[in-house]
Amino acid sequence: MRKSTRRTCRFIFRVVTFFMCLAVLVSLIQVPSLASKKEDVLENYIDRTFSVILGRTASNEDFRLWYPNLKKGSATAVSMIDQLTESSEYQAKGLSTEQTVDVLYRSMLGHEADFEGREYWLRLLSGGVSKTVLVHTIAGTDEFKTFCANNTVKPGDVTITEERDMNPEMTLAVAKMCKSLTGREPQAEELNTWISQLTGNQAGLANFLLRFMKSDEFTNLGYDREITVQVVFESMLERTPTEQEKAEFIDILSHGVSMDFVVDRIAKTQEFSDLCAGKGILPGNIELSEPRDMHYELTGFIARFYEKLAGHVATADELNDGIGKVLSGEVKVTKMLSEVLESPESQETLASNDDFLNAVYEVLYGTAPEGEAIEGYRIGLEHGITRSHVLEEITKSEAFSEKMKELGIETSEEKQVPEKIIALTFDDGPYTPVTTRILDALKPYDAHATFFVVGNRVNPYSESIIRAVNQNCEIANHTWNHTTLTRISGDAVAQQMNDCDNAVFNLAGVHTRVMRPVGGSYSGTVSANVGRPMIIWSVDTNDWKYRNAQHVIDEILNNARDGDIILMHDLYETTAEAVEYVVPKLIEKGFTLVTISELAEYKGIDLQAGEAYFSLRG
Ligand code: ZN
Repeated sequence: MRKSTRRTCRFIFRVVTFFMCLAVLVSLIQVPSLASKKEDVLENYIDRTFSVILGRTASNEDFRLWYPNLKKGSATAVSMIDQLTESSEYQAKGLSTEQTVDVLYRSMLGHEADFEGREYWLRLLSGGVSKTVLVHTIAGTDEFKTFCANNTVKPGDVTITEERDMNPEMTLAVAKMCKSLTGREPQAEELNTWISQLTGNQAGLANFLLRFMKSDEFTNLGYDREITVQVVFESMLERTPTEQEKAEFIDILSHGVSMDFVVDRIAKTQEFSDLCAGKGILPGNIELSEPRDMHYELTGFIARFYEKLAGHVATADELNDGIGKVLSGEVKVTKMLSEVLESPESQETLASNDDFLNAVYEVLYGTAPEGEAIEGYRIGLEHGITRSHVLEEITKSEAFSEKMKELGIETSEEKQVPEKIIALTFDDGPYTPVTTRILDALKPYDAHATFFVVGNRVNPYSESIIRAVNQNCEIANHTWNHTTLTRISGDAVAQQMNDCDNAVFNLAGVHTRVMRPVGGSYSGTVSANVGRPMIIWSVDTNDWKYRNAQHVIDEILNNARDGDIILMHDLYETTAEAVEYVVPKLIEKGFTLVTISELAEYKGIDLQAGEAYFSLRG
C-alpha cells in the first residue's frame, strides 16, 4: 500500500511536472507570439512606409530608431515621412515631382493620387511650392487620420513656415515670371524673399516684375527689343504677344523709355488685372518717375535724334538729363540737340553734309530737306559753318515750333527782353588779326556783334566770316569795295549791295539782312536802291581817328545806353584792345550784347528797307 501510494504519488508528480513544464514551454512560446500579434501592425506599417519612400524594408537599426518612438507617440506618421523624404538616401534617388506626389500619397494614405489630385499638386510643386504644403494638406484629412489609426500611429502634422508655401498662387505666379524672364527655375530662398516682398509692402505683381527686370541678372541677359517684348508678355500675361502687339511694343521701346513705362502699360490693362484677381494678387501700380517716361513723345523725338544723328541709342542718363533740362527750361531743346551733333561719333555717323541735312530733316519733319535755306546750309557747311549752327538756324523756323508744340514744348514763348541791350558794330573788315581778337573777347559771354563787311575782303579773310557766323554774330553789308554810295547811280548802289551779299552768301550761305552806307552818307537814291534797312550809329568811338584803346573805352563806357548802336572798325589793334576791356565791363554793367537784327527783334522794331536807323530803343 505504501509502495503503491508512493508510485502513484511519483506518477502524479511526474504528470504534474510534465504539464507544468509543458505549460512553461507553451507560455514561453506563446507570450512573445501573442505580443507580436498585437504589434506587427506597426512593424508592417514601418516596413511599408520604408519601402514606399526608400524602396527597401526597414533595417534593424531603423526599427530601433522608429518603433519605440512611434509606439509611445513621440514620433508621428508625418514626422517619419518628413524625415525619410528629407534624407540623403531619398534625395539621391532623384525622383521627379510626379513621383514625389505619388510617394507622399502612398506613404500617407496607402494609395496613389487620383488624376485630379496629381494634376493639382504637380502644378503647385513644379511651380515653386514645397512638398510641405502637400504633406500638411493630406495631414488635415480624415482619411489620413483613419489610415493612421488603423496602423496604430499618431498622425502628426507639419507647420508651414516658408513664405513660398503660405501663398501658393503668388509663388506660382512669381516663379513663372522668373522662368519666363530668365529661363531658369527660381531657388526656394529667392521665392521666399520675393513673396515676403510682395506680401510685406503691399507691392503688386507689376512692381515685383519690374524689380526683377532691373536686376543685374536680367540686364546681363542683354535681350534685344523683340525678345524683351516677348518675355514681358509671357511673364505678365502668360501668353505670347500678337504680331500687332509685338510691333507696338517694339516701337514703344525704341522711343527710349524705361521698362517702367512698358510694364506700366501692360499693368494698366484689364487683362493683367483680371489675371491678378484670379490669383488673389494685387496687380500693382508703377509710379513713373524718370523724365523719359513722363514725356513719351518728346523722349521718342530725342531718342530718334540720337539714333540718327549720333549713331547710337541714347542712354537713360542722356535722355533723362536732356529731357529734364529741356522741360525745366534750363536748356533749350536746340542747344541740347546741338550738343549731340558736336560729338565725334556724330561726325563719323554722318560723313557728308548731305547725310547730315537728310538726317536732321527726317528726324525733325519726316521729310527730305526742303525750302530756300537749304542751298545756303549746303554752302555754309562746305566752308566750315558748323552743323550745330546750321541746326540752330533750322530750328528757328515756324515748322520747328509747331513740331515742338506737338511734343509739349513751347519754343516760341515770350522772349525775356533784357533790361539793357546794345549792339556793337564793326565796319570795314574783316581783318583776321583784329577780328579774331574781337571774336575771342565776345565768346566767353556768348555776346554777339554785327560785322559790316566790305565785299572784296570776304574771301581774303573768309575764316573770320565763318567764325563770326558760327558764334551767332551777324554779317552785314558795307558795299563791295567801300564806295561812297551818294556818289554813284541807283543801279550801281544795287550792284554794290549785291556783290557784297553774293560774296557773303557764297562763302557762309547767309544773306546780309542790314547794311551801313559808307561814312553814314545816304540819299534818296541810296535809300531806294540798298534793298535793306540802313543802320547808322548812336555812339561813334572814332577809333579810326584816335587809334587809342582808352579813348574807345571811355566813349563806350561813358555813353552806352539801352538801344545804342556803337560804331567801331575791326581794322585796328587798338580797337581789339578796347573791345577786350569793354566787353566784360558792359556785361558787368548789366548790358546784353546783341546783333542789329536781334536788337530790333527785342525792341519790337520791324526794320524797313531803305529806312535809316541811328539807334533802336523801341
Ligand atoms: Zn566804312
